[in-house]
Amino acid sequence: MVNQPKFKGILIVISSPSGAGKTSLANSIVEENENISFSTSVTTRPPRDGEKNGREYHFVEKDQFNLMIKNKRFIEYAEVFGNYYGTLKDQIENLLNDGKDIIFDVDWQGGTKIRNSYLSPLVVSVFILPPSIKTLHERLLNRNKDDDRTVKLRMKEARSEISHWSEYQYIMINDNFDKVKKNIVKIIEIEKMRRNKRILLPDFISKLNNEFEEFISNS
Ligand code: 5GP
Repeated sequence: MVNQPKFKGILIVISSPSGAGKTSLANSIVEENENISFSTSVTTRPPRDGEKNGREYHFVEKDQFNLMIKNKRFIEYAEVFGNYYGTLKDQIENLLNDGKDIIFDVDWQGGTKIRNSYLSPLVVSVFILPPSIKTLHERLLNRNKDDDRTVKLRMKEARSEISHWSEYQYIMINDNFDKVKKNIVKIIEIEKMRRNKRILLPDFISKLNNEFEEFISNS
């Protein structure tokens, strides 16, 4: 238990190519499990229609973001398509202290940064694969979110995202939404029992030892 961060919750990194279902899975898991939350990142990109400050993101100006970097407010940050995004240290530590588990719905680069951060002993990583390329393509088309050109681009990005599957601890094929969702929740429960994620275990073992002493002295 050397260098073990002292927190009660764990971090779950979920990655997949866009269209394989990670966002719907993560949203549904957070909705149904009050002990599992999202973190709200900080970004310099302007809000899109319908986005609310503090809900999807904390929206800030570039100067403010730079100041936050300087003040070491982030666990990790990255530039994506010309905008900056960062994961807030205070927020994550507060949630973990409250015993919450936190889901990160991120691409492989975001996942790598979280896995390599000082919180790495608390991280469990899950990669979601589509059952076939045909299904992935159909899902992207059916989202009606993107034009033909964007769907083609997403398919290209998907290939590169999938090439990182082996960096993850758990790999799931999303052929049945409810089954995959249940399995992710199961993984979280099981991972929390791992010795290196149970920071309160030494206290519990001391309690058992005290009870042993008491038992011996009474017998
Ligand atoms: P969007 O602007 O479409 O909401 O997100 C663009 C990209 O930024 C996505 O790939 C998303 O995973 C990534 N992103 C969102 N928040 C963070 C963050 O806190 N850190 C990193 N590294 N990437 C993020």
